[in-house]
Amino acid sequence: MASALTEKLSRLVKQIRGQARITEANVQDMLREVRMALLEADVALPVVRDFIARVKDKALGQEVVGSLTPGQALVGIIHRELAATMGEGVADVNLATQPPAVILMAGLQGAGKTTTTAKLAKWLIERRKKKVLTVSGDVYRPAAIEQLRTVTKQAGAEWFPSSPDQKPLDIARAALDHARKHYFDVLIVDTAGRLAIDEAMMQEIRALHAELKPVETLFVVDAMQGQDAVNTARAFKEALPLTGIVLTKLDGDSRGGAALSVRAVTGAPIKFAGVSEKIDGLELFDAERHAGRILGMGDIVALVEQVTAGVDLQQAQKLAAKVKSGGFDLEDFLEQIRQMKKMGGLSSLLDKLPAQLAAKAGDADLDRAEKDIRRKEGIICSMTPEERRRPELIKASRKRRIAAGAGVQVQEVNRLLKEFEQMQAMMKKMKGGGLMKMMKRLGG
Ligand code: GDP
Repeated sequence: MASALTEKLSRLVKQIRGQARITEANVQDMLREVRMALLEADVALPVVRDFIARVKDKALGQEVVGSLTPGQALVGIIHRELAATMGEGVADVNLATQPPAVILMAGLQGAGKTTTTAKLAKWLIERRKKKVLTVSGDVYRPAAIEQLRTVTKQAGAEWFPSSPDQKPLDIARAALDHARKHYFDVLIVDTAGRLAIDEAMMQEIRALHAELKPVETLFVVDAMQGQDAVNTARAFKEALPLTGIVLTKLDGDSRGGAALSVRAVTGAPIKFAGVSEKIDGLELFDAERHAGRILGMGDIVALVEQVTAGVDLQQAQKLAAKVKSGGFDLEDFLEQIRQMKKMGGLSSLLDKLPAQLAAKAGDADLDRAEKDIRRKEGIICSMTPEERRRPELIKASRKRRIAAGAGVQVQEVNRLLKEFEQMQAMMKKMKGGGLMKMMKRLGG
């Protein structure tokens, strides 16, 4: 999702990450920028206020100020709070009722109701092995009924006929009756939308709701609508007990803010995301991942999974014990470099980042970084085991020997030793517990 919000926040995230120290004053500055970015992306003001207050509260606590990597910690908080604003974990569809489970689709015309009805039918057939029936209550647009027929066929579900001379309530009753008699697990009811909120439409859908007693009432909303999406969501929420939201067109050039506000304004969880025009372009909404996308952090979950999969926990514990006893040496430094390689190298990690960030990192930078890792490994491998354990032994003549062995300049050996010293100092400060905490944070 290449939105203005994503771009602004990615830029901010980059800036924040670079901050060596975070003080109360620069937390305030950063939050002001985050606030601007959210407002410009059409996130509703009360939602922004509440969000900033929560982030500030946590940011000024121990978590950030006084943390070894304060920038990262702050980005982490923003990420978690963004996700929390949009939901907890991955939502799911509720079918826990005597079949047929009725799903009522609500929303404005053009929001993507009909498309989503068919996508959802396909999703329920494939993922939940359900027998699904669809019906259209849009008696004002014959084309809408025909459209549902076509897409339902594509989805491999069954379609219940309706026509413009019927009343929506009669259609609903007949479809429900048919679904019961033919043992359908789910009946999805597509409804008429208008171009704008209109009292007659609201009354009609309220009557449908009362008649059908749906287990899910899903509000379908176009993510590209920005602030309008919020107003529509509010109106529907007032008219109907919504149980979930479907955000469509998240693949488009959406402003991204809708996801944040709609959830906050309706209190209903975002259950699905429409990610393409195609019949299989529907996903369960994952707030964490979406927050990551908004932040321009790419597929953070996949990234973390890969990082933690590559890290040997036992190895990490051993390392933690060594750090505690002050015994962290070049042998361990080498082990760390090897762990890094085990994770698949930098380029594979970079693949997980959003395209615009990865492009900025550039192939040349990446090449250099990978070469640097190989060079470091070469240097340490040219040392004797004793030198690795006691780097202080490495004086001028040993340095020359090591450099020659690794095929590098003496300065490179110096640079590596210096880097090692810094790392050792940092690890001493962190002590074992800090390191384990860091690993856990990666894993969590
Ligand atoms: P309805 O009036 O609410 O029933 O809306 P439709 O289902 O007819 O959808 C309106 C338009 O949006 C159609 O051209 C759909 O193909 C398109 N659309 C719906 N959902 C998505 C989506 O998730 N991504 C994209 N790119 N287009 C979508």
